[in-house]
Amino acid sequence: MSGPGQETRREPRMTLIARRGVCLVISAPSGAGKSTIANALRASEPRLSHSVSVTTRQPRPGEREGVHYHFRDIETFRNMAETGELIEWAEVFGRGYGTPRGPVEAALSAGRDMVFDIDWQGHRLLRNALPDDVVSLFVLPPSLPELERRLRSRASDDAAEIDRRMAAARDEMSHWAEFDHVIVNEELDRAVSEARAVLTAARLRTVRQHGLADVVASFGPVPSAQP
Ligand code: 5GP
Repeated sequence: MSGPGQETRREPRMTLIARRGVCLVISAPSGAGKSTIANALRASEPRLSHSVSVTTRQPRPGEREGVHYHFRDIETFRNMAETGELIEWAEVFGRGYGTPRGPVEAALSAGRDMVFDIDWQGHRLLRNALPDDVVSLFVLPPSLPELERRLRSRASDDAAEIDRRMAAARDEMSHWAEFDHVIVNEELDRAVSEARAVLTAARLRTVRQHGLADVVASFGPVPSAQP
């Protein structure tokens, strides 16, 4: 109990210790549901931000500059790649896609987590650039016909684009085993809670909670371990 004249005993506050942010990479063939899963995660995780990529492709209906992508021409994109403004970049479907470096570094050092919707090439490059920060998740569709049905039902791409994306889907899926975790998106709620479990486990990894060492030390001397 505490009150006027009574001293309040301060307990060390474990949960307020700063830690470096997590880079949660989600990859999948187009139509497997990775954007939906990433959006659902962000809706329930206020401290999770989305890495907004740069792309040379045209905006789809409803896509907004700076929200879904930074839409740039090929010359600007190449210049960003050459000057190191992109932490990773790749060509996907004949267009340039890349991750701006600045927001990633700012988020990680401030202890904010980021989710990346990038392809398998981006995953490899980002993991090389930030080996201690990346945790990755691959999303598989329940079947190839179901993937095609989902691509056709979203009505944002024309038939030629859908055919191109179906052809690319097999290639993307051939990289699934390079990822730390894999889920099958048969039922969205379940896929979202599995993705949340991956993020939670990454946040709790001992290596990213060095700050806790000071708190534990403040508990006082520890009896020496028994053999
Ligand atoms: P979409 O055109 O459907 O938005 O994206 C096409 C593909 O490009 C998806 O597989 C998506 O994950 C990937 N992609 C989007 N942004 C990036 C990025 O910054 N880097 C890389 N490597 N891939 C990206």
